[in-house]
Amino acid sequence: MTASAIRCSNDLTLSKALLARQEVKRLNRSIKRQSVKGEQSATRRHLLATSVRLSPGMAAGVHQKADRCVERLGIDSPLELYAYASPQFNAACFKPEEGRVFIMFSSSLLEAFNDSELLFVMGHELGHHVYGHHQIPIGYVLRGRQPPPADLALDLFAWSRYAEISADRAGAFCAQDLESVARALFKLASGITDERVVRFELDEFLAQVDDMLAFDDKPGQGAPKQDWFSTHPFSPLRVKALKLFHESDLMTTTGIDKPTLEDQVQQIMSLMEPDYLQGKTDSNRAMRDLFLGAAVVIANAYEGISKKERDILKRYLGETYSLDTLDPDRLKEDLPRRTAESYRI
Ligand SMILES: [Zn+2]
Repeated sequence: MTASAIRCSNDLTLSKALLARQEVKRLNRSIKRQSVKGEQSATRRHLLATSVRLSPGMAAGVHQKADRCVERLGIDSPLELYAYASPQFNAACFKPEEGRVFIMFSSSLLEAFNDSELLFVMGHELGHHVYGHHQIPIGYVLRGRQPPPADLALDLFAWSRYAEISADRAGAFCAQDLESVARALFKLASGITDERVVRFELDEFLAQVDDMLAFDDKPGQGAPKQDWFSTHPFSPLRVKALKLFHESDLMTTTGIDKPTLEDQVQQIMSLMEPDYLQGKTDSNRAMRDLFLGAAVVIANAYEGISKKERDILKRYLGETYSLDTLDPDRLKEDLPRRTAESYRI
């Protein structure tokens, strides 16, 4: 099994679509121009100044694990490992410089995570490198001088969550032990490592996801709104997605096939996506009517609906609505009713 064979399909599809977008292409060109002008090894210099480089002599155990991940994921770039002082569990992989890949760990993580847990974290970070996740400049787009178009921002968040799923699979592929992988995610999410305080139970942790799925079936009580905009999938969802991965034929000979795996993962991830634009329940329809009505009214507020506004609205309205027959003044009058209805359902 190779790293590319286990990559989450939605990560691949969404990243291809994002890389083809003009805004992303333009930004990548300008980042490239900046780096040609600027210093070639800015990240490395920064890491050497703020962190400790872990040489193979000093940190033989950590390097052994890195070697194992590099081999399993088929990486041929040289790797440099760093540690920095922090009580917070964290790790990061940087965009390569001059062919060199950098991974940074917080001191607390290195001390509190056992071998398998560390393999997962390291494999996850290297997964970001293997799948070229750094090619999509999400930070630049979202924090740039001009806010990105709404559909681009939502696509970036959705992609980013699926990119985490791919990286998690790479980590699990290196660790080969679901229990440790889940425990690592639990430690990252809760900060708790002392077994006297909390004894981690995989099944109980997974039951939290089933509760969330059951909750979502009730009309009008969908995913919390802030989840649309979070880039890291909430960790019980990640554990559930990883459990499915372990039960697939990517990890075991008798498992479910990849299309089935991806279907089930998408179902779990949909808990974090705004579904009312496509949904068919009464509450979806009420939310959609309110959203679209309000969008048309706002677009019309200043000097009518411009060509640019019309194009944006069309992207959301889809085929079933015709902009020309919508009357913004009537919609405005109708908004309080739509608001009340979306609350009622
Ligand atoms: Zn990640």
